[in-house]
Amino acid sequence: MNVSVVLFTADLRLHDHPPLRAALDGSRQVVPLFVRDRAVDAAGFAVPNRLAFLADSLRDLDAGLRERGGRLVLRSGDLVDEVCRAAGEADADEVHLAADVSAHARRREERLRAALEAQGVRLHVHDAVTTAVGPGAVVPSSSDHFAVFTPYFRHWSQQRLRTPLRAPGPVRVPDGVGSQELPSRGDLSGLSPALAEGGETRGRRQFASWLRSGIAAYEDRHDDLAGDATSRLSPHLHFGTLSPVELVHRARRAGGPGAEAFVRQLAWRDFHRQVLAARPRAAHADYRTKHDRWRSERTAREDVEAWRAGRTGYPIVDAAMRQLRHEGWMHNRGRLLTASFLAKTLYVDWRIGARHFLDLLVDGDVADNQLNWQWMAGTGTDSRPNRVLNPVTQAKRYDPDGAYVRRWLPELRGVAAPAIHEPWKLPGPDRASLDYPDPIVELSAGLDRFRRAREAR
Ligand SMILES: Cc1cc2nc3c(=O)[nH]c(=O)nc-3n(C[C@H](O)[C@H](O)[C@H](O)COP(=O)(O)OP(=O)(O)OC[C@H]3O[C@@H](n4cnc5c(N)ncnc54)[C@H](O)[C@@H]3O)c2cc1C
Repeated sequence: MNVSVVLFTADLRLHDHPPLRAALDGSRQVVPLFVRDRAVDAAGFAVPNRLAFLADSLRDLDAGLRERGGRLVLRSGDLVDEVCRAAGEADADEVHLAADVSAHARRREERLRAALEAQGVRLHVHDAVTTAVGPGAVVPSSSDHFAVFTPYFRHWSQQRLRTPLRAPGPVRVPDGVGSQELPSRGDLSGLSPALAEGGETRGRRQFASWLRSGIAAYEDRHDDLAGDATSRLSPHLHFGTLSPVELVHRARRAGGPGAEAFVRQLAWRDFHRQVLAARPRAAHADYRTKHDRWRSERTAREDVEAWRAGRTGYPIVDAAMRQLRHEGWMHNRGRLLTASFLAKTLYVDWRIGARHFLDLLVDGDVADNQLNWQWMAGTGTDSRPNRVLNPVTQAKRYDPDGAYVRRWLPELRGVAAPAIHEPWKLPGPDRASLDYPDPIVELSAGLDRFRRAREAR
């Protein structure tokens, strides 16, 4: 009987999984394989919060495979060596894999293809597994990628998506293919206390509940910081415990302005992936440089430390930074305004902020994190690169009664809105009774510094 290897990467699910379906076609035996890639660990990408979500997701995948008579095979080391070894042990003649966009993933795919070919094994790479619409599927006539979201979205919306696939029936794994023990979040330290749990089972439950009772109000409530009314599906999309194709299909079926707004956000994911696929250096280098001479970790040490710790003296910024540390997740509005504050008001290199986010975010993703940071730093795809978000105005608009600040800053719990957003304006004795820092920068001074820096370029 023919044997295939299915290499799981950022697609840790059984529903709507084209590589697994292709491998099972013709009643083949399959080796469902996950390789903990040494190179990803060496790049500092394997941080506790994401490793915990990964551990949950691998266990859930294994459980789903076992219900079908199979199991997950786990290896660690050089991904190419490990896939070749597993293919050799199982006498497999093909390997199935989802397409991915980062420079690392694409180099790895090329090496894998060559190594497998030398062994007489064919590699099949499947599109639209980790994206709804793959990077090559919509391309403008004059360039290799879209640099502006709106026209991209117009084309993206016209694409015909493939029909989502059901979860498979029985899965037969050949004997004699050894596996390491699956990791467990219990083995990890340094986790955010309120970190979300991973796994396809949980992701599907969460998505079903979102369709039932969240999506309809999404357009109106997505910026309400205290209301916490977004889907929180981002880690499931990052690890592929949910399928973006299936999410788009089911949201469209639900219909209405909330569903439309949600689908538009899913298109942002694909947008960033097509930018990164065309410009892999944008993970580290300015996409559209403004020749900034950013303040560095060394020159801005105290400011950066205050920002990371949630002690800048701007309550809305500090609340969001503390949410990040506590949950390993932050509301999108919080991400926008904390990024604007670091890159523009403090004029600190966006890479320092992006790194801190990647150290903590459970959904931390090279494409979405780096390109959103660039967007907010004005070196990315924003058509208004010099916009600066004022944290006080933002706070009054998106947290009008201060409930979000009060949730994350216990030291301000007794302060009413709108004063809670500007505690430095409280009368002397009230201000003095708070254990809360003064602002580390005056907003007007920060704005002047930023404008001068950009005008000089
Ligand atoms: C500075 C900064 C850094 C960010 N870093 C990441 C990151 O590392 N990983 C990540 O997944 N998202 C990132 N985002 C995008 C966005 O903030 C999160 O996807 C969103 O907050 C996740 O919450 P949710 O699942 O409730 O989103 P919802 O509002 O429910 O949106 C649904 C899905 O759409 C996608 N999405 C929404 N907004 C964006 C966006 N701006 N760009 C790309 N995809 C989007 C996400 O997959 C999200 O799960 C970042 C945004 C900023 C401004």
